Amino acid sequence: MLIDIHCHLTAPEFRGRLAEIIEDSVRAGVKAMITSGLGYEDGIKALSISDYRRVYPSIGVRPYELKGYEEVINLILKESKRILAIGEVGLDYWYVRDEEERAEQERIFKEFIELAKELDIPLIVHSRSAGKYALEILLEMKADRVIMHAFDGAAKHALKGVERGYMFSIPPSIARSMQKMKLVKRVPLESLLLESDSPVLAPEPGQINYPKNILISAKWISKVKGIPLEKVIEVTGSNALRVLGLVL
Ligand SMILES: [Zn+2]
Repeated sequence: MLIDIHCHLTAPEFRGRLAEIIEDSVRAGVKAMITSGLGYEDGIKALSISDYRRVYPSIGVRPYELKGYEEVINLILKESKRILAIGEVGLDYWYVRDEEERAEQERIFKEFIELAKELDIPLIVHSRSAGKYALEILLEMKADRVIMHAFDGAAKHALKGVERGYMFSIPPSIARSMQKMKLVKRVPLESLLLESDSPVLAPEPGQINYPKNILISAKWISKVKGIPLEKVIEVTGSNALRVLGLVL
């Protein structure tokens, strides 16, 4: 089944047309969407729009907007039974170049990893221009139930995560990314998931992205791996259910 493991349905781009977008996704075959609320207020919104039928919440922070992250930790603790995952959390070395700020990101990332382990909840990891470093930390801390979202690093680093059972979710922007195609070629289907990361990471730059576009991710995985589309949808769907501990 088609499961969008990571999107942002609370984004301003979707304001006023959320019901329509969810309906549209369901009509396109999407069975579940995991919407990620980033920061305290957006986290509350993600909880409030979740119907636990089609839309499920995860809560995290942007790695480059960490002010007030303690409140987010408290929210996760309070709502740990209602959220499906922590995330996204992680490192962003593309936005953040300053060494001290990077060290701060790392410290807070480790707090979230600890929290995910404590709660035995999956972790959705952002690692822009920092894939190798994020994986090193996760492996060192023996994190499991890890979803590396829109991983932009080298496949050889990704494979170290694969060995430990980490999953890699593929956005529709694979349509314009040689790096993602290479990643998909090397990472086994059993370790792949579909994500839209909507409203961003559309197949065409500058477009608004939608959850239904995970079908585009699936088509590219099918093409790159030479596997039937149906099989990609079936295996990525059961991968998603397994890592999330979700029964549909
Ligand atoms: Zn995201």
